[in-house]
Amino acid sequence: MSVLKITDVSKIFAGPTVAVDNFSLEVGDGELVCLLGPSGSGKSTLLRMVGGFERPTSGLMTIDGDDITQLPPERRPTGMVFQSHALWTHMNVFKNLAFGLKLRGLPKEQITEKVEAVLELVGLAGYGTRGVNQLSGGQQQRVALARSLVLEPKILLLDEPFASLDQHLRERLREEVRDIQQRLKITTLFVTHGQDEALAMADRIVVMRDGRTEQIDRPDVVYREPQTPFVAGFIGTMN
Ligand code: ADP
Ligand code: MG
Repeated sequence: MSVLKITDVSKIFAGPTVAVDNFSLEVGDGELVCLLGPSGSGKSTLLRMVGGFERPTSGLMTIDGDDITQLPPERRPTGMVFQSHALWTHMNVFKNLAFGLKLRGLPKEQITEKVEAVLELVGLAGYGTRGVNQLSGGQQQRVALARSLVLEPKILLLDEPFASLDQHLRERLREEVRDIQQRLKITTLFVTHGQDEALAMADRIVVMRDGRTEQIDRPDVVYREPQTPFVAGFIGTMN
């Protein structure tokens, strides 16, 4: 059963630039799909449209059959983590996570309970009173992930969340995120231009170019039979 359904979605910016070109995709319940492609291939624009931060020029998006195409971000059952974490640096970790729950009017005890549970999940138990600025880059991205997860979205949207981190930390975090994603069985769209990341994390990979799908397959198939120069070139360098 597909949870997220994207049908014939396009985004044309002034210029005109066709950032996303008649793109369709169905993502199954609990599935992690990686959008992989070179810079400028439309990955972020697509993700931002699913999150509601950008309006499609045309097309339709549904979640569990409900049309979300025109909904503002806060009314969508989606949570997004951006490349730069965009945490509120003047608030401590707890307040960053509690903010969205307060807006939803949850009672204090429930907020505390949920925040503590999600901090535990991302390996930051006991970090609630820390200032965001006192944390390492990796810890800040864990807080950003936690801030999305605490709102219990149906769909998690991750846009190159590890791009600013060093290789070693990236490898560790991608395993942590994959582990959390599988434990929560949360349907996820993960944007990256790192082939290694996509091959390691995804249930399926969508290789994008010029706003379109060049290949969509399981990672082992993309690895064995890359249909695109972008991926084939990379795999060539691994052998
Ligand atoms: P990716 O995330 O794959 O690098 P983007 O979705 O950011 O690609 O960009 C796809 C194309 O759309 C690029 O040509 C980019 O320059 C253009 N683009 C993205 N955002 C805007 C915008 N707000 N205004 C105009 N053009 C944009
Ligand atoms: Mg991008």
